[in-house]
Amino acid sequence: MFGILGSDIDAARLTYFGLFALQHRGQESAGISVSDGKNITVYKDLGLVAQVFDEATLAGLSGPIAVGHTRYSTTGSNSWENSQPVFRHFGWNAIALSHNGNLTNTSQLAGTLGPLAATTDSELMTEVIAQQMSEGGLSLPEALSAALPRFEGAFTLTVMDTTTLVGVRDPRGFRPLCLGKLGESWILASETAALDILGADYVRQVAPGEMVVIDENGVTSRFPFEPAESRLCLFEFVYFARPDSILMGQTIHKTRLRMGRRLAAQAPINADITVPVPESGMPAAQGFSEASGIPYVDGLVKNRYVGRTFIEPSQSMRERGVRMKLNAMPGVISGRRVVLVDDSIVRGSTTRQLVTMVREAGATEVHLRISSPPYRWPCFYGMDTGDRSTLLAADRSLDEITSVLGADSLEYLELDHLIEATGAEPDSFCTACLSGEYPTNVPLTDSKFLLEGSI
Ligand code: AMP
Repeated sequence: MFGILGSDIDAARLTYFGLFALQHRGQESAGISVSDGKNITVYKDLGLVAQVFDEATLAGLSGPIAVGHTRYSTTGSNSWENSQPVFRHFGWNAIALSHNGNLTNTSQLAGTLGPLAATTDSELMTEVIAQQMSEGGLSLPEALSAALPRFEGAFTLTVMDTTTLVGVRDPRGFRPLCLGKLGESWILASETAALDILGADYVRQVAPGEMVVIDENGVTSRFPFEPAESRLCLFEFVYFARPDSILMGQTIHKTRLRMGRRLAAQAPINADITVPVPESGMPAAQGFSEASGIPYVDGLVKNRYVGRTFIEPSQSMRERGVRMKLNAMPGVISGRRVVLVDDSIVRGSTTRQLVTMVREAGATEVHLRISSPPYRWPCFYGMDTGDRSTLLAADRSLDEITSVLGADSLEYLELDHLIEATGAEPDSFCTACLSGEYPTNVPLTDSKFLLEGSI
């Protein structure tokens, strides 16, 4: 997500470029809302940023304040109605909201609001905030201060009304948000890579539990929540964030290199070549190769015009997606013992096909090295990894997983080593998907389509 407030700027165009740098965070839909100071206009559609927007649509979005979003659905289906920013108009003002994360009290919240045509937790939040403004006559920051404590779970937000931009991180700060500056304009973005693309300066991370209010007078900070321990998603380091983004003071690329080095020390193997699974496995494979001395070879070619297969919604599309995306090169693989390095295995369908592909390309052995621990527990905080039954490692031993994947050997980086590689304190992270330790109460059932069932 992205937000910008300046004066005399083409906020929508800058947001477009910001979203372009954040495309990896969601590929189902893209949207931008813009205010000219009096009215908010929203344009959003299913598809990639560059498919949704063109010169003509951007030309129709003029004004100095904007919020943008790329969607990867974690609540509700992949439909136009569920794309963001969510917009509400009420008499004297309007708001547009972008949400990254997933609420854990969606059904309770829905219960307090009466019948609504909302199909996502993001819409419920927008409704609560809009009600505070329209019925209570509150300003956007006041309405947020009143509404935010009612939300539980993961919610990093960028919200705007006609004159103000606000960034929020929930008290645990599951999802990141940074503050940047471009000339006199202030920027909010999920990752620092979105600042780089604009040539903007990185100012700082928005803190867990912090609400930053940006208007023509500059930035002010408030803390509307009861304090809680910070729990940034560890998977941001493993998979989500771009390698060139900075989190907790370090580039993600460096952290992933260290993960690979530790993996080589923890799980050595005799092999001829280290082959990365592009692109998410590349830094870890580089670290693995450096530490093991096993040469790094690009044995898999990625079609750079195909997105991350996993993010597409249905399993059948995902299965087809792998072959569209990756192809093995017999010329470099044939007759070799291959260490295949990737960042994670979730459902296992991609990895199984990759092992087969590498064998078909002539590898004599295929050893899997994964730079994170087994993914065993569903995420309720904004990763659509499905319920436990879909997770390959949920109830399987290492041997069973190895045999399902058809590999000669398999080792996962241990959780302690992964956390060490980040250089941060162990209790800084949410590790729920890897450890089963959820930092908040979580719904008992997977609730992705909870609200859709009720309307
Ligand atoms: P699979 O073998 O089907 O579990 O897919 C493994 C691949 O999925 C790895 O290359 C990961 O980089 C990637 N992956 C891990 N987590 C996610 C996620 N939340 N969304 C999309 N892709 C993911």
